Amino acid sequence: MAARSLLRAALPSSAAGSLLVMPSGAGRLFVSLCGYNRTSHRMIEEGSKRGKAMVEKRQLFMEMRAQNFDVIRLSTYRTACKLRFVQKRCNLHLVDVWNMIEAFRDNGLNTLDHNAEINVSRLETILSSIYYQLNKRLPTTHQINVEQSIGLLLNFMVATYDSESHGKLTVFSMKAMLSTMCGGKIVDKLRYIFSQISDSNGVMMFAKFDQFLREVLKLPTAVFEGPSFGYTEHSVRTCFPQQKKIMLNTFLDVLMADPPPQCLVWLPLMHRLANVENVFHPVECSYCRSESMMGFRYRCQQCHGYQLCQSCFWRGHANGPHSNQHQMKEHSSWKSPAKKLSHAISKSLGCVPIGEPPHPVFPEQAERPPELTHTV
Ligand SMILES: [Zn+2]
Ligand SMILES: [Zn+2]
Repeated sequence: MAARSLLRAALPSSAAGSLLVMPSGAGRLFVSLCGYNRTSHRMIEEGSKRGKAMVEKRQLFMEMRAQNFDVIRLSTYRTACKLRFVQKRCNLHLVDVWNMIEAFRDNGLNTLDHNAEINVSRLETILSSIYYQLNKRLPTTHQINVEQSIGLLLNFMVATYDSESHGKLTVFSMKAMLSTMCGGKIVDKLRYIFSQISDSNGVMMFAKFDQFLREVLKLPTAVFEGPSFGYTEHSVRTCFPQQKKIMLNTFLDVLMADPPPQCLVWLPLMHRLANVENVFHPVECSYCRSESMMGFRYRCQQCHGYQLCQSCFWRGHANGPHSNQHQMKEHSSWKSPAKKLSHAISKSLGCVPIGEPPHPVFPEQAERPPELTHTV
């Protein structure tokens, strides 16, 4: 709910790079995290008994807790930050989705039924091949610690998908999780997912999409955001209210819409977080007074010149005449006043394309599953 009010005010695409953030419902944003300890302990104790010995079973969760993401008021940002943390800590952000698809194929996953179960030791073999291949692509100066990455990811996957300790995960769980949490473009991820949940005529199977949501929404649940983003039987209907024929482009339109469907709103945000991580704004934060900021920048729509860094905004900080009930605009880039002027001029001269679609239009009949056609 918080996320919906957050994104309802999103600007049209002509204002790409900025977003209006509604403060409404700030009080509701403290999603109940009681049971944090209990839940995490149970999941990890039960879930990863066979985890790799070299990594402490709870290490990833302990490190995530140390980041103190729970002070972020907005559940969408909190969820996206936590999952981005998991992604980076496991070095999954370095694996492009096409490489991931190739790894699925190399490990024979595309010949297996989605409901087939694979045991943890096979999962470990698959993760090893993903990370060893990754290191082959990375320069020698930027090699990752393969064993540690396998250990962290294996424990996370087991905690997320094998909470009942069967020692097994389905092929579909694995594909859904890894193709969502890896690096790459969101449109490529969604195309892959569509190839997995559509029939031979390129029409989405609703039951399969429901199954996908069930799997993918275990991710927010694993990072204790189930109260906001856990799976419910209504999740499908929030994405596709009418059961009509859904082809690839409609699927992409809906999932990449602004705002995206409520249950998946954290996914595009995770991508946007990744994109702004290294964006520098030479602007002082009006609250913490740091001279510049990285990431998102928030500008109050009421108080002239009042700007917050993401850390202060996410924590609900406000001072002076500003209140955290004011509407804030989110900026993911910084333009010098001179640049802004030249942009405005070229726009008035018609040099700036407006209303570009968020994704290219793909052929719907002939689309083969990307895993068969598009590996590098
Ligand atoms: Zn600040
Ligand atoms: Zn203000």
